[in-house]
Amino acid sequence: MQFYSPLLSLLLWLVLMLPSSPLQAAEDIEPALTSAELQTIDWLNGQEQNMLDLLERLTNINSGSLNKAGVDELAAIFRQELRQLGFSITTLPGDVIAMPSCPGSDYDIDVADHTLAARRGTGTRLLLMGHLDTVFPTTSPFQSFRREGDMVYGPGVADMQGGLVVMLYALKALAESGDLDGKAITILLNSDEEIGSLSSRKYLEEQARRHDYGLVYESSGNDSLVRQRKGLGQARFVIHGRASHAGGAHQEGRSAIKELAYKIVEIENMTDYESGVTVNVGVISGGEARNTIAPCAEAFVDLRYPEPQQGLDAVDQFEDIFANLYSYPVDSGEITTESWTNLHRPPKIPTEESDYLLEKTRAIGRLLGQELGVRDSGGGTDGSLTQALGLPTLDSLGIAGSGAHSDREQARVSSLVERAKLSVVLIRRLTAE
Ligand SMILES: [Zn+2]
Repeated sequence: MQFYSPLLSLLLWLVLMLPSSPLQAAEDIEPALTSAELQTIDWLNGQEQNMLDLLERLTNINSGSLNKAGVDELAAIFRQELRQLGFSITTLPGDVIAMPSCPGSDYDIDVADHTLAARRGTGTRLLLMGHLDTVFPTTSPFQSFRREGDMVYGPGVADMQGGLVVMLYALKALAESGDLDGKAITILLNSDEEIGSLSSRKYLEEQARRHDYGLVYESSGNDSLVRQRKGLGQARFVIHGRASHAGGAHQEGRSAIKELAYKIVEIENMTDYESGVTVNVGVISGGEARNTIAPCAEAFVDLRYPEPQQGLDAVDQFEDIFANLYSYPVDSGEITTESWTNLHRPPKIPTEESDYLLEKTRAIGRLLGQELGVRDSGGGTDGSLTQALGLPTLDSLGIAGSGAHSDREQARVSSLVERAKLSVVLIRRLTAE
């Protein structure tokens, strides 16, 4: 039978060339929202004020990583909320992280306890992660919450008190509809993410091995999900020289500051934008008086690297620089360097499974009318640790916001409910797999 006609082929061509709407594209991967999902979403529509009130309360409590009392106060709020949702709570002890430092400048870090909350269940096991700490110490002038229209401003509103609120309300919505029952969901809230999860890393890695997917509630930025991240490292070094009178016995002194200056230049010169490796000597201090040759000086260094091997190479370079003496032609015993290095975040390298999780989330977003972009980031999260151990992890499910780690930190109010809806549907569908 001859069926071909020019008209038919024109029609066919037109159909093929029609741009597919985002909704159609989403339904290619994800089925339409069910009536049960729509009910849960509807419940969330009425929660914006409650979410905002909680965000204000959390933001107004200083929870800088070193402010143990503030971090504990936040933990208590979440423990109570999660207990009410039927989670059993376990305290994971924090530790004291010892760091080299000059006499009188104590850099040891006393990390607050972490919180593990779990519900037993069968099927796909989800690990939800969030950090209670912020980068803002109690001495920071940026301390309080403020709202202007659809934006809120304050320390941690985006990074990541807003994300914690999103996570909690997604769980509340699931509880409301009875959908938490029988689900294997674990929540790990750590208190040291902003200093590199130096204490909580072991707990994160232990949980990563016991779950099927990881969800982290870092900010969704300008409405986009992060696919790939650089690895992070840090180094601290302390130079011990010899004090002397800057006028009477200058030649007898060994200036730790002078040696520090040479080492800083060597370290800064490791930055190579082409390979993506960057270093930043972010904090220095040293010396005792203008007219004393400095007996001690110290520095804190940040490292970013795209590939695991680059991190290892950078640590080797650090070690060489620490071992070398640049400032005086003297015995190495006269000027000594103590150092500490740590590659605290591996690079987050996408896998087929993590891309599946990312695309599934974007497709659910389209069903909800949320167009979520994809970006790469130079910032690390705990999701990099879990993904490196094989747990497919999506790490940007929190509130939309910007200006993290600065006094311009802000977040979009309406994204609280939007991202909670996104998580609810995602969690429902992942746990049904
Ligand atoms: Zn964060």
